[in-house]
Amino acid sequence: MRYKKIKHNQPQSWGRYPKIQHSQIQTIYWQNELPDLSTYEQPILPYAYGRSYGDSCLNENGISLDLTHLQRFISFDQETGLLRCEAGVSLAEILDIMVPRGWFLPVTPGTKFVSVGGAIANDIHGKNHHRSGTFGCHVTCFELLRSNGQRLTCSPDQNSELFRATIGGLGLTGIILWAEFRLKPIINPYIDMDHIRFSSLDEFFEISAASDQDFEYTMSWVDLFIGGQNLCRGIFMRGNHNQSQALASKPIKKRLPLALPFNLPTFALNTITVKAFNELYYHAQRRKRVHKTVPYDPFFYPLDSIHNWYRMYGKRGFLQYQFVIPFDHAREAMSEILGRIRHAGEGSFLTVLKKFGDIPSPGMLSFPRPGLTLALDFAYSGQKTLQLLNELDKIIIQTGGALYPAKDARMSAQSFQTFYPQWKQFAQHIDPHFSSSFWRRVTSGSAESQPLPGFGVSPQILSPP
Ligand SMILES: Cc1cc2nc3c(=O)[nH]c(=O)nc-3n(C[C@H](O)[C@H](O)[C@H](O)COP(=O)(O)OP(=O)(O)OC[C@H]3O[C@@H](n4cnc5c(N)ncnc54)[C@H](O)[C@@H]3O)c2cc1C
Repeated sequence: MRYKKIKHNQPQSWGRYPKIQHSQIQTIYWQNELPDLSTYEQPILPYAYGRSYGDSCLNENGISLDLTHLQRFISFDQETGLLRCEAGVSLAEILDIMVPRGWFLPVTPGTKFVSVGGAIANDIHGKNHHRSGTFGCHVTCFELLRSNGQRLTCSPDQNSELFRATIGGLGLTGIILWAEFRLKPIINPYIDMDHIRFSSLDEFFEISAASDQDFEYTMSWVDLFIGGQNLCRGIFMRGNHNQSQALASKPIKKRLPLALPFNLPTFALNTITVKAFNELYYHAQRRKRVHKTVPYDPFFYPLDSIHNWYRMYGKRGFLQYQFVIPFDHAREAMSEILGRIRHAGEGSFLTVLKKFGDIPSPGMLSFPRPGLTLALDFAYSGQKTLQLLNELDKIIIQTGGALYPAKDARMSAQSFQTFYPQWKQFAQHIDPHFSSSFWRRVTSGSAESQPLPGFGVSPQILSPP
């Protein structure tokens, strides 16, 4: 089964904010029919399934290269678990083919509708960060097409700096044509899962500490609206791959995803509805701990069961805000952050809390680092939302933490450069013909952000080279 991205005339990001126009959308179908990238007169950016939330996958007035048709499997080594495939192959396709053969992704985000190229370009993390690090930790090599026509094999030993720059490199170093990475063996497609209710941030830390050793996957849904000393409450979710041979042949019922037929009106999401949702969700689990064995899909990808859930946030779209803060500042900073959000009257249905471990990411610009990471969604209500998030940035800066570029659509150049002081070193590896809306914003005022002559000018439709 082929997974198509949601069709739209213009490439969009998952948050539907910002809404921008590209001058041209060029589709690449074959590795032996690659365009001469040096002939493009406007900056280029690869685009895959648009599951990035903000503008890191967008290129206003520039050229968006659709790479989702590079979707061929190249080789698999049953002994080592090494899979080589084109960069437009989605994680969903890999799971469909490899799970029945007893293999699983080394790291997966909260949606399976992302491409291998996108997983590398954002050096994505999953529920097993504390045990397995980021996706990039499992990549052995890839081929990168640069605008000068060079096709470079990059690995930790070959073109190693470009390898490190491309992992987490936001699509700016060239086009990843194919990649090779290591899958991990599983016995069956089921997960042994616990859901544990916790009533404070301190309790979250306790359960987390008790789970890190024995559970491969951990994350929590949290309710931030309880106030007081407890700071938050939630459901801690942890799991391991089930080890029973008997379940290997038990078929999994596939459920078709639901779809939201229209954008919900903006007033549908407010602190009252969020509080009501949180109350229901928290109390839906009556017992302190629930144990179940479930297929991998609902455990890893509950949000994929609603095809276009971004519509819940209305026409204006939404902003996701994901930060990481070092553990030693976590309690204090969380108290401040949650207080600001409550005071602003902004609500987030989907709030996810997790501890990152200390496995270093290979990417020069990778986001994960040891600490507590929280991801929140805010319906976009103009200046009010932007002001709140600017205030939160200041707190993150004070803690020495960082924001995740894959989720961002508004952080200032100053904030980005504080979060990622290595950005200048990274910028030396950017392909001179590549750029993005995100990169221009977060490096505005710097020499590194200057477009090539003729770049960033008024939009025009170019004919394919
Ligand atoms: C519901 C949901 C849950 C999510 N959960 C997580 C999570 O748990 N952890 C996490 O880390 N992220 C998470 N994300 C974010 C998502 O995993 C990343 O944004 C991912 O990179 C999106 O991949 P994509 O294929 O859609 O790429 P796009 O969003 O289209 O592009 C992402 C980046 O990859 C670049 N790119 C794409 N293809 C190539 C290529 N062939 N060569 C070079 N560059 C390329 C683009 O230029 C862009 O910079 C989530 C997103 C959603 C919608």
